[in-house]
Amino acid sequence: MRQIAVLGATGSIGASTLAVIERHPQRFRAAALSAHTDVNALLDLCTRFVPDVAVIADAACFQTLADGLRERGLATRAAAGAAALDEVAADRAFDTVVAAIVGAAGLASTLAAANSGKRLLLANKEAVVMSGALLVQAAARSGATIVPLDSEHNAIFQCLPHDYARDPRRAGITRLLLTASGGPFRGWTRERLAPVTVEQACAHPRWKMGRKISVDSATLMNKGLEVIEAQRLFGVAPDCIEVLVHPQSIVHSLVEYADGSQLAQLGSPDMRTPIANALAWPDRIDAGVTRLDLVAAARLEFEAPDRRAFPCLDLAYAALQAGGSAPIVLNAANEIAVAAFLGGQIGFLDIERVIAESMQHSVNEAADTLPAILDIDRIARGHAAAALNGLQA
Ligand code: NAD
Ligand code: MG
Repeated sequence: MRQIAVLGATGSIGASTLAVIERHPQRFRAAALSAHTDVNALLDLCTRFVPDVAVIADAACFQTLADGLRERGLATRAAAGAAALDEVAADRAFDTVVAAIVGAAGLASTLAAANSGKRLLLANKEAVVMSGALLVQAAARSGATIVPLDSEHNAIFQCLPHDYARDPRRAGITRLLLTASGGPFRGWTRERLAPVTVEQACAHPRWKMGRKISVDSATLMNKGLEVIEAQRLFGVAPDCIEVLVHPQSIVHSLVEYADGSQLAQLGSPDMRTPIANALAWPDRIDAGVTRLDLVAAARLEFEAPDRRAFPCLDLAYAALQAGGSAPIVLNAANEIAVAAFLGGQIGFLDIERVIAESMQHSVNEAADTLPAILDIDRIARGHAAAALNGLQA
């Protein structure tokens, strides 16, 4: 029986993970759950799963959580604050950690799980982007197994040789092809993009996701972050990672080999498939998803991304090529800009401006410890806030 800590349990990935866990009560137990501020949603999950511990990241909500657990007569222990997330991630009582917090807030707990030799099911791509080589090195040292949940990276994971040891040349890998739906604005011109609303940006044509990643998908920054994520996880050179727009979201990514073979993983666009794969790996279990019907799908289309209309993709490639602190700055500026867009403070095309300006104002430096990374993140957020103010002035 796997004892699973789901960090970010109240989010979109959290919900899909808990749906798969609930389907397999003989194999999996949701043993720890966390949320940011939504105590009621967390209490509902505690009633459903009766975990050993429930963590509310916002410490101000601790009493409400503790009272709620008591009123419901649940044996679940209440904990609060960012440090409690790290403790749960490192706690030996839980052998599997699902990193499903959104943004930099998930970095420390993700690293704590990687340092603790666990199975780490990784959705929190911002943590991967920020941590550079640190995350993968930590896992290698502790014996932790990282299984990606991001659908593209999980697809690549499935298409790699079983004994893949982060040596693409030896494995005969020539390219990783990351597919992208193209988001809600595929084919749109810059003129049409300028006035788009938050509702339009969050209405993804294929996937139902949290608001931050939905906006990232609309700007193509999601794919940019995923290019960096793929480089980190699979150890390939940046110029061996390509993006392929595939509006049907059925082919979830491909690995190309030296003999000309391209191996792909296909499936309905439903996160429960990569989640079930990662939870049970190397076994295969029922994910509860509708079977993919290729006759009904009929057409699979592919096209090159429009890099002029969606410059965030090239900003991410530039950050990856620059290395050092550049990806941390890219991520921090993006988080600030997307929050400002979601809050109605800036327009859609201002997102890329804030990121480009923040990157210009940052000096590239080494970022190989958690404190150094957090420092760079904090300073970059300051630059991004200044860029925001400049736009609004
Ligand atoms: P979401 O917004 O639906 O959920 C985020 C979760 O994180 C919630 O449980 C929330 O309470 C928690 N959280 C938010 N801020 C926090 C903070 N400051 N401290 C502690 N907890 C906090 O997001 P999501 O769509 O589930 O995405 C989660 C992560 O998975 C993101 O990194 C995203 O890029 C990645 N991802 C999501 C999908 C998807 O289909 N949703 C697919 C691939 C990757
Ligand atoms: Mg993805």
